[in-house]
Amino acid sequence: MSCQLINGKAIADELYGEIKARIEKLKEQGRTVCLAFVLLGNDPASEVYVRMKDKKCAELGIASSTFRLPYDTTEKQLLRKIDELNRDDNIQGMLVQLPLPKHIDENKIIDAIDPMKDVDCFHPQNVGRMLIGTSIFLPATPAGIQQMLIRSNIETAGKHVVIVGRSNIVGKPLAAILMQRGKGADSTVTVVHSMTGRLKEITNQADILVAAVGKPRFITADMVKEGAVVIDVGTNEIDDPTAPKGKRLVGDVDTEGVMEKASMITPVPGGVGPMTICMLMSNAVTAAEHAFNTQAQK
Ligand code: NAP
Repeated sequence: MSCQLINGKAIADELYGEIKARIEKLKEQGRTVCLAFVLLGNDPASEVYVRMKDKKCAELGIASSTFRLPYDTTEKQLLRKIDELNRDDNIQGMLVQLPLPKHIDENKIIDAIDPMKDVDCFHPQNVGRMLIGTSIFLPATPAGIQQMLIRSNIETAGKHVVIVGRSNIVGKPLAAILMQRGKGADSTVTVVHSMTGRLKEITNQADILVAAVGKPRFITADMVKEGAVVIDVGTNEIDDPTAPKGKRLVGDVDTEGVMEKASMITPVPGGVGPMTICMLMSNAVTAAEHAFNTQAQK
């Protein structure tokens, strides 16, 4: 079977065109979208993520501010910062870069963010809305996967989607999104995890197989049905002495082997990754559109 690569970068670029048009429209009304990042400590991976998001904001014409707080910031101090950002009418969206240091209760922090500014869509109110089907925001990675499916003309209605992984940021929300009624949804969803027995038997039933496991090349060809669409969410750094930095990024799927059976597959890098940051930017603009509408109605 000839397998087609789904180009996440190209789909993200198409979406950025639409996002820029929304930003321009707001600018014509004298409005600027402003996003705040809160970063605790100096975890190198978190630094990289925030820098990437900041750079993307600058490219799109979104104003962004990064609030860097020391690693030993207390929960109370962080809650105070969030309260300050919640009250700041000049900022329409915010995100607190996770993971947080162990002495801080992540759930407490997420709960404190104004749901209308919660561009990560981690607040319980937004998670509940997503489940009910009345969402304002969708979390970036699963929303990006849904957009990839829609924009690659992959039928989801009535298809069996098997999601390997049940995390709060990928597996669970993706299941909630794809089981809704409507475009890019209407799927029959199965979520499997580390306690699932007969994993291979279930993954082999998938019309669309999503791997969000966090284990390099976990999904092998024998786990994939002939003609399935495979979405690889994984980003795992592995040692590779032939690579310039001695390390290389691989997904949760054994791409080469699985391409022998799948009809379409997302590459790593260049698949789900570019879609994630793109959907985050889209959420920032959505937050701003809502905030400006509310202000105009007052
Ligand atoms: P996570 O929180 O570590 O969750 C991994 C899931 O995989 C868990 O539900 C776990 O089951 C399940 N699992 C582990 N071993 C398994 C096994 N042997 N059989 C079946 N299921 C198994 O990971 P995550 O945050 O969802 O991320 C998953 C991957 O996606 C990571 O590589 C991450 O870096 C990547 N990621 C990429 C993006 C992007 O934008 N490209 C965004 C987010 C995440 P249990 O629940 O039972 O432990």
